[in-house]
Amino acid sequence: MITYNDLVNDIKSLGIKEGDTLFLRVSYKAIGKIEAGPKAFIDALLNVIGKEGTIILTAFPKTYNQLLRFFYKGKISSANNLMKPITGVMPIFALKYPSAMVSKKLLFPFVVIGKHAKYLTENHTNEKDGYWLLREATEKFNSKCLRIGGESLTGTTHLALTEMLRKYDYYQTRSFYGLYIKENDKISWQIKNNTTFCIKGFKKMYDQLIYPNVGKKEGKVGNGYAIVTEMKETLAKEREILFRNPIEILCEDSDCAICRTSFTFSDSTKGKYLINQLFRLKLGNIKFILLYILYGRKIQ
Ligand SMILES: [Zn+2]
Repeated sequence: MITYNDLVNDIKSLGIKEGDTLFLRVSYKAIGKIEAGPKAFIDALLNVIGKEGTIILTAFPKTYNQLLRFFYKGKISSANNLMKPITGVMPIFALKYPSAMVSKKLLFPFVVIGKHAKYLTENHTNEKDGYWLLREATEKFNSKCLRIGGESLTGTTHLALTEMLRKYDYYQTRSFYGLYIKENDKISWQIKNNTTFCIKGFKKMYDQLIYPNVGKKEGKVGNGYAIVTEMKETLAKEREILFRNPIEILCEDSDCAICRTSFTFSDSTKGKYLINQLFRLKLGNIKFILLYILYGRKIQ
């Protein structure tokens, strides 16, 4: 069993210290069984970073295809009744802290605890991009990404990808996904407007170009592999890579609809991809591509 003290020691040995602003990507499963449950991990972290520190977690709810929204009229997220996050168990526990604050942008909520919680969440309004909060934490508060287990994400890739699309006037086509949101006693259907990337493509870019070329502190928290990176540095590196060659974000899988067709710089066309998938009777992919050929929207 992993104890609270084990966690404090593990966190300190990663170079995390008082006053740090941390974006967390933490798999509870990867850490292993903690004596006092997931809350002990957050307690340990808050203890190490102290009153001047801040932790940020994604608390994204499940969203639904726009065409099927009629079936999800009962699923309404509001500030008082937030839809359960699908981003793991840690945000669920973080939300229980009395001092936890949530983005005003309820379609794209982050839960934040600590010194910068009020500033970050109150200014993350509907007009801002989904990942605005992470950009602000990166640029203003020098945030670090603490990842334990899970996929090798940096927290900054969406920012670099969006910048690259806007810089070259590229865009992505994707289906409409959204959720009913209640604000000021009014319920409205809101659509996500963020770009997305394929995890396989990202992993290739990360392993070859990011991981070897950025500063990092690696270790273990409980049984889980842990890595701390400076988000300013990963953002600069991802910018450099993607500005130089946008296709670095694409995977090599011929069945991947995101990489093969969704970007203006993708290497196939939607028609070609569709025919290929029809021949091979890949029904899931056919449904996916038809939805976004017929109902896709262009986003940057
Ligand atoms: Zn892909």
